[in-house]
Amino acid sequence: MNEPQKVKKPRGKARIITGKCIACGARCQSVCPVDGVEMSAEGEPLIATEKCIGCVKCVKVCPAGALEMFYTAEELLIIASFSQVNGDEPDEDELERRRRVAPYRGVWVFIEQNAGEAARVSWELTGAGRELADTLGVQLSAVIIGDQVGHLAQEAFSFGADNAYLISQPVFSQYRTEPYLEAMVYLIEKYQPEVVLMGATGMGRDLAGAVATRVKTGLTADCTGLGIDAKRNLMQTRPAFGGNIMATIMCDKFRPQMATVRPHVMPMPQPLANASGKLIEESFSISESDIFTRVLQVITDKGGKDRVDVAGAEF
Ligand code: SF4
Ligand code: SF4
Repeated sequence: MNEPQKVKKPRGKARIITGKCIACGARCQSVCPVDGVEMSAEGEPLIATEKCIGCVKCVKVCPAGALEMFYTAEELLIIASFSQVNGDEPDEDELERRRRVAPYRGVWVFIEQNAGEAARVSWELTGAGRELADTLGVQLSAVIIGDQVGHLAQEAFSFGADNAYLISQPVFSQYRTEPYLEAMVYLIEKYQPEVVLMGATGMGRDLAGAVATRVKTGLTADCTGLGIDAKRNLMQTRPAFGGNIMATIMCDKFRPQMATVRPHVMPMPQPLANASGKLIEESFSISESDIFTRVLQVITDKGGKDRVDVAGAEF
């Protein structure tokens, strides 16, 4: 007697939802395993239905929810019968991704400072971070590393931070990559934030790249826009291909999501008088003998009438 043929669950085909594509830089095309996605001159996908194997990768990666799977009437009936038996369950990849990102919560802003004076971009990012944290329903934290920099915590609260992580030791008095890197990695591994923002300054670019490499996550440099998508991913927008397109970049599989933002891109928030927050002091330190670099002399831009701090200037 012949065995009854097993019915496979239909996988469907991907299609674009008219008007929703934001031309993010061809993320859908880059993940398609069968070269089934061409891009139009406007940066929108043209899906070759005959090639599509219904893997759903393009739908999952799209930051704008602009792609969906579609099924024939017959396929929909088969799916309905599967759903009655099994319910709708996420696949193994999705379950693994959820397990990996679940412990990470909160938005952090690295407060760049020089001789105890915060860089203006750090407060601009605190304002932007406040909006992201509110959208996510999590807390906003400032990360302050330096020597005798505790006063910056109160400033961070006034610009909207709920918490301030403080590492204040003589070894951090001048910025050097190694000790700041070790301090940031220590804090990230201990507290597991989902978003870390830094200014796209000399210091921020140096530190962000080093930290992202150590904690094995993605970093988007020089962002001009930040937002949150429906899956709690940070949407990081920046010019690409010589400034000809604006690309929205996501890091949906790893945490924290890291971005640097140039000074003066985000508006400067108004400080709130009498604001308060939680100060979390960490005693982390690193021995001077473990650091390969020494600061021999600091030549400041300030003091001469011909010397202007362009990045921090009001205009
Ligand atoms: S569903 Fe998979 S195979 Fe089909 S177009 Fe999208 S990425 Fe390509
Ligand atoms: S991933 Fe989404 S937003 Fe990006 S190009 Fe493809 S359809 Fe458009």
